[in-house]
Amino acid sequence: MRAPSQDKPSRHSLRGKITLGYYAVAAIILVASLFFVGELRTLEARVVLGQRATDLFNTALEIRRFERNYFLHHQAVDLEENGRYIQLAQALLADNQTDFAAIATQARLTELRTRLNDYQRQMSAYATSDRRQLEAAETHVRQLGQEVVAIAEEMAGAERRQIQTTLASFRMLLLGVILSMALLIVMIGRALSQRVVRPLKEMEASVAAISANHRDTLSAPSNDREILSIIAAFNHMLKELDLRQKSLMRSERLASLGTMLSGVAHELNNPLSNISTSCQILQEEVGESDAATQKLYLGQIDQQTERARTIVRSLLDFSRERAFRKEAVLLKPLVAQTVGFVRGEVSAKSVVRLAIPEDLSVSADAQRLQQVFVNLIRNAMEGLDTQGRIDISAQIVQAGEPPAGTALGEGCESKGEMVEIRVADNGPGIAPELLPRIFDPFFTTKDVGHGMGLGLFVAYEIVDEHGGCIAVQSVPGQGATFCIRLPREGGLGQPPSDAHDAQGGH
Ligand code: ADP
Repeated sequence: MRAPSQDKPSRHSLRGKITLGYYAVAAIILVASLFFVGELRTLEARVVLGQRATDLFNTALEIRRFERNYFLHHQAVDLEENGRYIQLAQALLADNQTDFAAIATQARLTELRTRLNDYQRQMSAYATSDRRQLEAAETHVRQLGQEVVAIAEEMAGAERRQIQTTLASFRMLLLGVILSMALLIVMIGRALSQRVVRPLKEMEASVAAISANHRDTLSAPSNDREILSIIAAFNHMLKELDLRQKSLMRSERLASLGTMLSGVAHELNNPLSNISTSCQILQEEVGESDAATQKLYLGQIDQQTERARTIVRSLLDFSRERAFRKEAVLLKPLVAQTVGFVRGEVSAKSVVRLAIPEDLSVSADAQRLQQVFVNLIRNAMEGLDTQGRIDISAQIVQAGEPPAGTALGEGCESKGEMVEIRVADNGPGIAPELLPRIFDPFFTTKDVGHGMGLGLFVAYEIVDEHGGCIAVQSVPGQGATFCIRLPREGGLGQPPSDAHDAQGGH
């Protein structure tokens, strides 16, 4: 599929949608403006026509004014002005025939024209009439003049009313168009914001879900180019982060493997020396001992070989890279074995006491869980002196509240039954100001070459991966207690009332 061009805003891009929204609003404004320009032109024409009608009415009044003057003073100049205004009125009527048709009927216009012509004739007749006819002619002229003024006034009034009506409807129209424009713009804005904001909101929610570990990739909430490229970049970044995290875990596991290797060497010593002793006895007694004794020693050799094989197998199990797999894991043997392995590396001067029910199981990935124990037990052992003591206990708890102290992990809010494992030492403890930082990657107080600062970070990651919780409490000088909560698995019992020394502390 070809990627849409960068410059052309396609419909499937946020830019395209916003541009479309702008165009739509601009088009609405343009259409409304054109409409109003048209309406304004009509109104303008009405005002011009109104001006003509007023001119006609004023001309009629002027005709009458000079008529009155002439009747009073009989001066030729008044008659001349009267005649000039009559011609003006006739010209106005002739020039605006079609326009005036909008404010008066044709019959009324013809009547005005006729009256005006009659008036003109009567005025000329009056000027040449003898004294006896003067009065009758004057009355006739006045009457015609009144009729002309009345019709002109009627036309001016009609035009005024029409302008008022046009103005009123224009106002309503303006209001209507403004309201519908506002409505349309709001609708476009809403549609736009829905199309632009919704995918962003969905992305925000997916990012939150990713940071809460509920999912591991972002899915595209829309087909917009920008969103797709953000999603692709984000998913790429997540993949890279995942790879880096895996490689971090791997290097931490290698470090733990180093710890365990010396423990394994130490652990192997016992069966090997037992085998060697049995072999020596057998060699010395060749031909002397009876079959039963030989069988006994051979049985011991076989037993010790099996023990050595188990030790090597668990180391191999730990070192093998494999996918996360939850299963029912019996806690006590796993912890006991880990203690044995770790003890070999750290100077073995401490007493380790286990108080874990024989049949207590957790639902976990054994290999990863062992790494958590390696890290916690190693940390505890490293700080201990000759009086050192480590108590590892486990029991089922009714979770509800997170464990006391600095707690981390998805399962800290879990309710119901969980298995709580505590690793407590009476070592130097941790300063309160360091407590919030000890789970950070690369945080260490140890000398260069002695600690990578990844042990607790990896322990937290693993516990969190199991949907569990890890917490720490410490009083400087009196030791530290790490508490892990993990989902429980069937086959449960209560911890024994008296703790026993599982590894026979040294
Ligand atoms: P590292 O052991 O490589 O330093 P960790 O992440 O395992 O890295 O531990 C971080 C820091 O937490 C340690 O350097 C130490 O200061 C402190 N810490 C962890 N466990 C204990 C403990 N049981 N007693 C005292 N300090 C501890």
